Amino acid sequence: MTETKPYRVLLYYMYTAIDNPEEFTAEHLQFCKELELKGRILVAAEGINGTVSGTIEQTDKYMETMHADPRFADMVFKIDEAEGHAFKKMHVRHRPELVTLRLEDDINPNEVTGKHLSPKEFYEAMQDPNAVVIDARNDYEYDLGHFRGAVRPDIKAFRDLPEWIRENKDQFEGKKVLTYCTGGIRCEKFSGWLVKEGFEDVGQLHGGIVTYGKDPEVQGELWDGQCYVFDGRISVPVNQKEHVVVGKDYFSGEPCERYVNCANPECNKQILCSEENEHKYLRGCTHECRVHPRNLYIKEHELTEEQVAERLHAIGEDLPVKQS
Ligand SMILES: [Zn+2]
Repeated sequence: MTETKPYRVLLYYMYTAIDNPEEFTAEHLQFCKELELKGRILVAAEGINGTVSGTIEQTDKYMETMHADPRFADMVFKIDEAEGHAFKKMHVRHRPELVTLRLEDDINPNEVTGKHLSPKEFYEAMQDPNAVVIDARNDYEYDLGHFRGAVRPDIKAFRDLPEWIRENKDQFEGKKVLTYCTGGIRCEKFSGWLVKEGFEDVGQLHGGIVTYGKDPEVQGELWDGQCYVFDGRISVPVNQKEHVVVGKDYFSGEPCERYVNCANPECNKQILCSEENEHKYLRGCTHECRVHPRNLYIKEHELTEEQVAERLHAIGEDLPVKQS
């Protein structure tokens, strides 16, 4: 028997028309708070997208209530067991769209989207020599883990993806185009856009990477590294058969899967970094961030100016000259 942990993390989305989304947002927040769930939910006129954590009882109640609403009757919940909450607070926010692509016309995935492929179908399609696999996530997500051989679009945000595809169109023309993301929501729109753009053979990984990693047949095969998630866990495992580390330490280039935020609160960039290098570089991604007057690492460790100067000296840097 497998042991059951006391908490769960639910990941879910549904493209469905929500009238009065602002009113729905306020009511839904109230409902989640009453259940004592924690997490982040986005609500738009086009649907809902959320990650929440809670006890088995709380999450059961949530899923049951949502499924009783005809709008969400078919909503799929991806369930992870957890030792505790994955969030500190409960947020429900109203947004104009669930995910944003910079488009002339927005895509309604209920009207146009790529073929939904099961984990097994996606696994097989990836091995087609005429297939090209495009990662529909951000660069820092790709850097922690991705499908072997997947294309890493050189973009900083999802909304820039269509423009990048247009600029690199010759790479994909005449190919079987496969897309994937964490839970599937971004691909619903992105693959729909690809179809609209004229690509004829477009498939998307149904349920996303998190579903692929749990599939009893494929068991996460052909995935390297970890899957980045947008909650307190930061990452979850995918490949149950082998673990190939693809993440690289920002400073040394050594294999690394540990994400930290740059200690300069005005930068806050996510960097992969070992514990050793976090101390060595004062958790700053650049010299400016290391010596920033609000550097949180220096504050947390109560370092004196002398100690900071010592650390900097060890990496060939100096404290900035004080203006008098
Ligand atoms: Zn920084």
